[in-house]
Amino acid sequence: MPELPDVEGFRRVAQRATNHQVRDVRVHDAQVLRGITSDSFQRALRRRYFAEPRRHGKWLLIPTAGAANAPASLPWVLLHFGMTGNLQWCPHDAELHQHDRVVFDFTIGELRYRDMRKLTGIHLARELAEVDGLLAELGPDAERIEAAEFGERLTRTRRRLKPALMDQSVLAGLGNISTDEILWRARIQPNRATTELTSEELGQLHREMRTMLRTAVRAGRIPDGASWLTGHRDEPDRRCPRCSTALRRSRVGGRSTLWCPTCQPD
Ligand SMILES: [Zn+2]
Repeated sequence: MPELPDVEGFRRVAQRATNHQVRDVRVHDAQVLRGITSDSFQRALRRRYFAEPRRHGKWLLIPTAGAANAPASLPWVLLHFGMTGNLQWCPHDAELHQHDRVVFDFTIGELRYRDMRKLTGIHLARELAEVDGLLAELGPDAERIEAAEFGERLTRTRRRLKPALMDQSVLAGLGNISTDEILWRARIQPNRATTELTSEELGQLHREMRTMLRTAVRAGRIPDGASWLTGHRDEPDRRCPRCSTALRRSRVGGRSTLWCPTCQPD
């Protein structure tokens, strides 16, 4: 499931289109377009140039630029990848994949939004104010938030820790896998209440989150090597890579959660 590091990987994919002109937009499945028809989406983007893409949490934001004399309000393409989405380049003559929903055609190739389950999709913001509207519903990006604001936002929600960390309005970017990994690294039990964390624990959590995300962002995904909790999620006999205790799995805030009862005591 795409989380912050994966979307950062998609940002780098989209970056290749920067300063290239959209020759055409082909919508193969209009269900992934949110709040806009295929016709309007195509009309808004044809012949525009993609500008430098940005990421906020799990959102990829692609501003566009026009030719000379373009109107002041330039649309932005806002992409979310749900459970199964991705973005990739294909040569013009590559066969269409059955889950290729939208294709942006450039002279350098085709940028394809591929998504099997279509849980979220692509929005078009007509102008910057609409982008700001979306961002206003999200908390700060998890990779960039400073320790003080992190602690303040988390304790203010007065909930159990894991669902609070995954709430995109508190903090944008973390999903199920990255949250388990960060809590395991910080040695904090996912069921703890946010209000009972000490400032030391909050600091530790913030440091581990930052370190983990930086490594994962470089990789463009959450690494699943032997020293990562993530590397053991799918093993039949799951053991903690730090202390070899049998890992425990339960539901926290409705999500399947993996943790080590020795490293992360109640
Ligand atoms: Zn352990």
